[in-house]
Amino acid sequence: MTESIHVYAGECTTTFRADDEPQRQRGRVVVVHKPDGTVLVHDARGYQPVAWLTRANAVHRERGPDGGFALVAVKDGERLRVESHGEGDHARHEGTSAGVHVGFCPDCTGCLVRARGAITCLDCPAEYGLPRDAAMLETTCDCGLPRMAVERGARFELCVDRNCEELDAAVRERFDREWSCPDCGSDLRVLRERTLFLGCDDYPDCEASFALPDRAVVGTCDCGLPLVAPDAEASASGATSSGSEMEPPEHSDGCCLDADCARTPETV
Ligand SMILES: [Zn+2]
Ligand SMILES: [Zn+2]
Ligand SMILES: [Zn+2]
Ligand SMILES: [Zn+2]
Repeated sequence: MTESIHVYAGECTTTFRADDEPQRQRGRVVVVHKPDGTVLVHDARGYQPVAWLTRANAVHRERGPDGGFALVAVKDGERLRVESHGEGDHARHEGTSAGVHVGFCPDCTGCLVRARGAITCLDCPAEYGLPRDAAMLETTCDCGLPRMAVERGARFELCVDRNCEELDAAVRERFDREWSCPDCGSDLRVLRERTLFLGCDDYPDCEASFALPDRAVVGTCDCGLPLVAPDAEASASGATSSGSEMEPPEHSDGCCLDADCARTPETV
């Protein structure tokens, strides 16, 4: 989705005021005002702005004393004012998030990029939120969107659009009531509260809950919880994440999902 980025240029005085003395600078600069309220003042050198305010609460544009611009950004106790001497330049450009290109939009054929935890289209408002650890796949869904892989006790390969293929439903189908509560023996349900987790079916009488592993499950511990692959390498080898039948615990060297569990079987 495009939003407006405003760019100003000219000989300016910038005044940054926080708690202490105002800091004043004058020079020929370029000022970038982003849609999130961030204002950056760049001079001729280096990557760092000479003055800035990130995600200001409010940014006003006023008429400068010489008929040019005066930009005022305010955030809590901080204030940045950039005032042009002479007319100054102003231009408005369409901007988008920038990220890794991952495919093309089925709605508008625009370029899809992965940026800031989501896949966004550069040409239309289409946006698909991603799980933080999602890995993009080379394959494309029937709907035209790219597919992703997510590890939640097993490897799930899904469309990035949760209305097309839902991670929660897939994990629930695979693992709901698969394990039992180490405290009371009831089934563990696949639930979501911001993230997916395993919660006791006997809630609220039993409040046991466990994060779903972001690694492959390799068996079941004597306590009822899943045994997970000990590290990323083990699950990356593919030996335990192929979706085949789970190995019995005595043949695995997994760790109990509860790191403090004393009943993890010894490696045979
Ligand atoms: Zn699009
Ligand atoms: Zn799809
Ligand atoms: Zn329980
Ligand atoms: Zn255990």
